[in-house]
Amino acid sequence: MSHPVDGFIFDLDGTVYLGESALPRAVEAIATLREMGKRVLFVSNKPLEPRENYALKLSKLGIPAEPDDVITSAYVLGYHLAKTEPQLRLYVVGEANLLMELRGHGLHVINEFMDQSPLEVIQPHGVDAVVVAFDRTLDYRKLNTAYQALMQGAKFFATNADKMCPMPGGGIPDAGGTIAALEHMTGRKVDLLAGKPSRLIMEVALQRLGLPAERVMMVGDRLETDIFMGQQAGMQTAATMTGASTRNDVARMTTPPTYVIENLGDLPGIVAQSAS
Ligand SMILES: [Mg+2]
Repeated sequence: MSHPVDGFIFDLDGTVYLGESALPRAVEAIATLREMGKRVLFVSNKPLEPRENYALKLSKLGIPAEPDDVITSAYVLGYHLAKTEPQLRLYVVGEANLLMELRGHGLHVINEFMDQSPLEVIQPHGVDAVVVAFDRTLDYRKLNTAYQALMQGAKFFATNADKMCPMPGGGIPDAGGTIAALEHMTGRKVDLLAGKPSRLIMEVALQRLGLPAERVMMVGDRLETDIFMGQQAGMQTAATMTGASTRNDVARMTTPPTYVIENLGDLPGIVAQSAS
């Protein structure tokens, strides 16, 4: 019935680790899948840290990883724009890492319009596109600059659209609210979303794996993002019960995932079965 699986795309938070600890059986399962010759890629929606940091964190947890084994929403946006619209001058509502990431792809990032008072109608000349991201340094000046640029017709891009970022004890506001504010003010909608659950992040992931969608399994804890976008891309999907979703949530889905797993430890068995 199902194709053999040659590659896996893993969500990170709630799937591979939670906070600073690997989730049960994750380390052994990924090692076993690699021993079976399976390709593995990790995806994160967070634009706050370079891929090197994720690779280092995974390696410390016992899952050896190189920066090329990881893609983030910031990386996907930079990679995509460098290929499709490298000439655009970008105004970024985001943190230092995102600016670095985009510049690292050879893109033109405009510096803050620091000489202007935040209370005037500034004229952000030369902005072709506004990039909105998770930004813990967000202030009125940035919001105003982004607003003015969008009103003048700049393109509207976002790294990720998460409402909040889970933290120990709750969560903090993510990019979703900033996007919603700018959409509300301008009457426009985001033109391009790089992160989950966009089609783009799955396309880039498949390019990195070098595999067709039907030979890849998307593994994640969030049904409305991880599982949904895996299904949209034509991948097999596995929902893990180690994070945001329960078996009751799965039971309410119109299109359930291919597999529901207790944790990643169930994956090698699934692979062995589908190969036989
Ligand atoms: Mg997750």
